[in-house]
Amino acid sequence: MKRPKKMLWLSSMLFIAIASSCCYGQAQQQNHKNDVTQNTTSNDTLQTIKLDKVKVTWLCDNAEEKRMPISLFKDTPDSIISKLHLQDGLPASVSTFLVQTEGINILFDTGNGIADSQLFSNLSKTGLTVDDIRYIYLTHLHGDHIGGMLANGQPVFTNAEVYVSKTEYDAWINTPSNKNIQQKQVMEVYKDRLHLFTPGDTLPGHITSIDATGHTPGHTAYQKGKLLIIGDLIHGAALQIPYPEICASFDMDKTKAIQARKALLKLAKENHLVVAGMHLPAPGFKTNFNDLK
Ligand SMILES: [Zn+2]
Repeated sequence: MKRPKKMLWLSSMLFIAIASSCCYGQAQQQNHKNDVTQNTTSNDTLQTIKLDKVKVTWLCDNAEEKRMPISLFKDTPDSIISKLHLQDGLPASVSTFLVQTEGINILFDTGNGIADSQLFSNLSKTGLTVDDIRYIYLTHLHGDHIGGMLANGQPVFTNAEVYVSKTEYDAWINTPSNKNIQQKQVMEVYKDRLHLFTPGDTLPGHITSIDATGHTPGHTAYQKGKLLIIGDLIHGAALQIPYPEICASFDMDKTKAIQARKALLKLAKENHLVVAGMHLPAPGFKTNFNDLK
């Protein structure tokens, strides 16, 4: 296992050019600065945006409509549920993101890897195969993020170097547990090309890793210029952006999860970042944080 060098992250001027490709909806093209969601239909499963010299593609993994039930957010007052009309659940997704920069292809998380997962069909629509993925950067080791890495126990990404926070790795692998069978199997299969880093380290492609601990012990966000990939910082955007103090029951350390959510949403709002989230509703991007308190 190797460790990457630390470097300063680069900030750049925001320029978004959207080339949208849809499974069911219309292809659309536009340039704008503030809201990449406004011209996208809910049936899209693939969308590419350009931020300066970074090309990022949302690759939807879920085939069926994904909604998070309001029961996942146990601390939500009834008054907020009715005010925001959340009784029938919150629009969400299971998403991965392909970042193409400096001539390399980086995949952030790999989805569920189940029979109807769309990651691989969506990846092929970008003109790439799994063999073209040079790096996989994991936000954390839950099954809906590492499930796509194995097929029948074999590695799916034959050429990819895999990066995960050392804290996250240690928490899952070195801690006695009967709930880490999948994590152990995936990490074992990729052990010869596994890299453990400390949040703050800069990874190949000049991607900065950011501590976002709370959802899991080593949950990690990533930034390159105006792009901020937040993993599972948010499970129900309609609720947790206006009320970031509300956790999903998946958050393992609620105090730290709230701190991370507030800090990174503030960072995004103040710096006009494009946020890419693994459970944000289609198209997986969020840029408008006017509803953030
Ligand atoms: Zn997840």
